[in-house]
Amino acid sequence: MHNRPMAEPVIPLVDQRNGALADQLGRPLRDLRISVTDRCNFRCTYCMPKEVFGKDHPFLPHAALLSFEEITRLARLFALQGVHKIRLTGGEPLLRRHLEGLIEQLAALRTPDGAPLDLTLTTNGSALARKARALKAAGLRRVTVSLDAMDDAVFRRMNDVDFPVAEVLDGIAAAREAGLGPIKVNMVVKRGTNDQEILPMARHFRGTGIALRFIEYMDVGSTNGWRMDEVLPSRELLARLRAEMPLVPLAPTAPGETAERWGHADASGRHDPAAGEIGLISSVTRAFCGSCNRARLSTEGKLFLCLFAGHGYDLRAMLRGGAPDEAIADAIARIWRGRSDRYSELRGTQAAADGEPHVEMSYIGG
Ligand code: SAM
Ligand code: SF4
Ligand code: SF4
Repeated sequence: MHNRPMAEPVIPLVDQRNGALADQLGRPLRDLRISVTDRCNFRCTYCMPKEVFGKDHPFLPHAALLSFEEITRLARLFALQGVHKIRLTGGEPLLRRHLEGLIEQLAALRTPDGAPLDLTLTTNGSALARKARALKAAGLRRVTVSLDAMDDAVFRRMNDVDFPVAEVLDGIAAAREAGLGPIKVNMVVKRGTNDQEILPMARHFRGTGIALRFIEYMDVGSTNGWRMDEVLPSRELLARLRAEMPLVPLAPTAPGETAERWGHADASGRHDPAAGEIGLISSVTRAFCGSCNRARLSTEGKLFLCLFAGHGYDLRAMLRGGAPDEAIADAIARIWRGRSDRYSELRGTQAAADGEPHVEMSYIGG
């Protein structure tokens, strides 16, 4: 137990297994994304444009970041409130020094049923070739790698730091060898910038056991100069794919799944598992707020209830102020119960326009 003053009454932690904890729209808390750093070695134009995230950008000082012990303590309390999946993200999570140490601690956590958490990580892949084995040894289960093009010149333009695509592909191969699967690859599609890469990407990953997911370019943050005409709607993307490769719809694998799954089909029109599948994440054109069971913990310990939220709830202040576990667990439950966020459903309406400015994705974690 952490820092509990002797005289304080003990309130038992509530076991929320049976879905007792639900937000204002009846959504349970299942998934926690933890941003472990706000820094990144890439400057993807849709996320951390160079003009804004330049040399003088004030990134968080180390003391502001949650320590591994603080993250693990919060993760344990979130698990008690129903979270069974944790995704480490950022910024670029592999830039956080000795991340394996955090993974070891998180891998030791259990749900109230005694099951390990589904522990995963989203990375730009640049350090994966070096780190895959150590991550696996520390207890990481699988990875999602972001990759926006197969063509080297297009990829270098997307990451805007001239990073070669071959090194990310080496990272994916290393992750596969280390057993960090099933691997997913995320491609953000910007019309007019990398949409010519959709088919080469689909051809490359077909039959590899890696699920490629296409993500609609989103209006996250307030610095990427987002425009609706640069969004390529998933329906249009699907039509382009189906013109070349037969695809059949697949059932969702988990409640609240963000990706609509399509399987590569064989000559008889049935899904061919060996050829694999693709996913469509239609964050803009087909909102999935109704089943959104995700909370986000920022690098400095603020709890955000939506990717498009304007503010978070300061859990670090509670941690560092000596609050006992029960008080923090209670705060998490209270905050979640009050949640009514559904930005993507409201996008384009006055209610969405009236909201606070969005925080940046590199800070809150994607
Ligand atoms: N740096 C890691 C990476 O790129 O995988 C993790 C953090 S990144 C913010 C998480 C995910 O958010 C990545 O897959 C990235 O492509 C996606 N992302 C960032 N900005 C986006 C935007 N404007 N629209 C859609 N997806 C975005
Ligand atoms: Fe970095 Fe990931 Fe954002 Fe690209 S998407 S700038 S890799 S945090
Ligand atoms: Fe969840 Fe917010 Fe995205 Fe809706 S807009 S799916 S509530 S993160």
